[in-house]
Amino acid sequence: MRDAEFYPEGHLVAVLTCEPLDRTLDYKAPEGGVAMGAFVEVPLGPRKVLGCVWGEGLGGFDLSKARSISTVLDLAPMREEMRQFLEKVAAYTLTPMPAMLRLATRAPGLMNPPGMRKVYRRGEGRPPRETDARSKVLETLDEYGGLSFTLKELADTAGVTASVVKGMLPSGAVIEEDTPRDLPFRRLDANAPGNELTEAQEAAATALREDVAAERYATTLLKGVTGSGKTEVYLEAVAQCLKQGRQALVLLPEIALTSAFLTRFEERFGARPAEWHSGVTMTERRRVWKMVGEGGAQVVIGARSALYLPFQNLGLIVVDEEHDGSYKQEDGVHYNARDMAVLRASLCSATVVLASATPSLETWANVEAGKYKRLDLESRYGPAVMPDMHALDMRGEKLPSTRFISDTLVGAVKKRMERGEQSLLFLNRRGFAPVTICRACGHQIACDHCDARMVEHRFLKRLMCHQCGETKPMPEACPSCGVEGRLAPVGPGVERLAEEVAERFPEAKCAVLSSDLFASARALKEQIQRIAEGDTDIIVGTQLVAKGHNFPNLTLVGVIDADLGLQGSDLRAAERTFQLMRQVAGRAGRSEKKGVALLQTYQPEHPVIRAILSGDEEGFWRAEAAERKMAGVPPYGRMAGIILSGPDLAVVTDVANHLARIAGPLQRINAQLFGPAPAPIARVRGRHRIRFLVKAEKSAPIQAALAEWVGQVKLPNNVRLQIDIDPQSFW
Ligand code: ADP
Ligand code: ZN
Repeated sequence: MRDAEFYPEGHLVAVLTCEPLDRTLDYKAPEGGVAMGAFVEVPLGPRKVLGCVWGEGLGGFDLSKARSISTVLDLAPMREEMRQFLEKVAAYTLTPMPAMLRLATRAPGLMNPPGMRKVYRRGEGRPPRETDARSKVLETLDEYGGLSFTLKELADTAGVTASVVKGMLPSGAVIEEDTPRDLPFRRLDANAPGNELTEAQEAAATALREDVAAERYATTLLKGVTGSGKTEVYLEAVAQCLKQGRQALVLLPEIALTSAFLTRFEERFGARPAEWHSGVTMTERRRVWKMVGEGGAQVVIGARSALYLPFQNLGLIVVDEEHDGSYKQEDGVHYNARDMAVLRASLCSATVVLASATPSLETWANVEAGKYKRLDLESRYGPAVMPDMHALDMRGEKLPSTRFISDTLVGAVKKRMERGEQSLLFLNRRGFAPVTICRACGHQIACDHCDARMVEHRFLKRLMCHQCGETKPMPEACPSCGVEGRLAPVGPGVERLAEEVAERFPEAKCAVLSSDLFASARALKEQIQRIAEGDTDIIVGTQLVAKGHNFPNLTLVGVIDADLGLQGSDLRAAERTFQLMRQVAGRAGRSEKKGVALLQTYQPEHPVIRAILSGDEEGFWRAEAAERKMAGVPPYGRMAGIILSGPDLAVVTDVANHLARIAGPLQRINAQLFGPAPAPIARVRGRHRIRFLVKAEKSAPIQAALAEWVGQVKLPNNVRLQIDIDPQSFW
């Protein structure tokens, strides 16, 4: 039966809730009826919970027992395209629907009545008695002509107490009013002129504008090195989207959501966009959620979960830095925001722009297959060009095992310092040293809860497990043999590198950029700002620095260990290294001065290192694509990772072996099953982890087969089964 748009009072409807149930629940439509997709409050046992009307009730029970929906909430009903989106993501990622609804309602207080708050503005009256304090209030109100303030804002701005303001109400000099707590965002000016575009930028912008204006689905890869003007171009697409009267979503990796970006947006459109990311307060989250749903927010700039906001008329999704690993959500619902953005857009006739200097192989393959369009911005905007790239063959540099910066690199940094330019030393490893070993017995200090070595963090004066976050003090004596004073760090982390920098360049100002060294995203962004303003000679950083920051005075990038990412069994190791090295190198020479990137490597002949140096991207991709095709792995085959975990290894192993024996559903689609085997990190937070990998042809119905397969077992308490479709990480 086709679902109706509206259900009259008493009609049995299905309601989807966020409760961990495997089905919708039936309720009677309340007085006045209820619309399909309406957000409602329903009784569940003794509680009231949030739900969404999901179609005809399923029935099959005594209807006189059915309870009624308690309240229809004053929220815009979920649109059909959004319901479809949630169902498709659920089916693709094998996620239960309640978890999807939770993703789509991640704002506090949606069940509360729309909040009002009191605001204060200038009235006609005059206070009977002019005091200093009262004059200050009037001056403040006059200065901001007509604007309303909250009590606290007004009192603080005027420098008086709240009671002064309150005392002015009877005379009518100040007026108190109720306004909705969640106000619309300031209107953006779609017609404000942008920068004058270069020829290449204009061509790209025109193509995107046409797609947006056509209001049908299309995806385009916008490729260009950092600084080529991709942002400039996609902001033109945003402008076109605003002209169509539609909403736009710009997804950025969390770290790229800087105030610099917002300022730039404001300069272009005359007001700030709505923001949606982990730094946004709860009140603001609710405002954004509601305003997106009511059309009071035209553009949202956000992290991946912004995809689940209730857009009413979404016309454009930009995924900036589309190759970025952080788009893959790895806890809770496993989804790749880039792929889900394409799905979302296809359901609401929107345009997708995937912007990157170093696209993912998936996107490259989709362009090759004709599914995505491609626009190239060939050179950097203005005078800057890609840096010269060279390998430093570490086999020829005789470094003691406690040092990591070759003499050649030291010389290059010194030269930059003499010229007053900045250098970046890049090492993708947090902490002081990855391994702490006992020189007496050879013992390596490991985490008590994980199969992982503990990493010394000298700034914190502790050892830390990068799997579970557990820390402990650095012991005096070896925990294994008890000998004192023989524990020694092995290998470098950024903190150790910073120590070496301090020794070798005593006069240099050095800044360390590593995610664990900053208490908040804001503190980190402030540090980045200071560096950009030139307050640093040498930056020591992890991959944090590889992303979208502009350091205009940076002309040298030294990669401490270019081989680091090539180890391991990850199928994307080559791709990631290639992207990361190109990105990091791209930090150098973003303004007039030409940059140089020096890569320390023990294997300069390695094909990936050679591809990085030569800059032959198409060649690299073709070779990489050919290898993946041969191996039948993504994007040319389907893959899923299955992790079973639990506190008792024997129990987990039993379940795994049982699953292996009943793999008929997988065999029927000709999928290959690898495992069970201990996961590369076989224990995390005290839970043992056993892994399967499933590989299938691209066209095989892998989700259905997986669901049938794991549906055959009832998991013992404490054992968890996680399925990750298109896994990005293999730990
Ligand atoms: P990308 O997104 O590719 O890294 P941006 O759009 O951020 O590139 O451009 C890099 C820098 O060049 C920015 O500071 C931007 O303001 C400037 N820029 C790019 N194109 C233009 C243009 N047409 N006119 C003026 N400035 C531009
Ligand atoms: Zn641990």
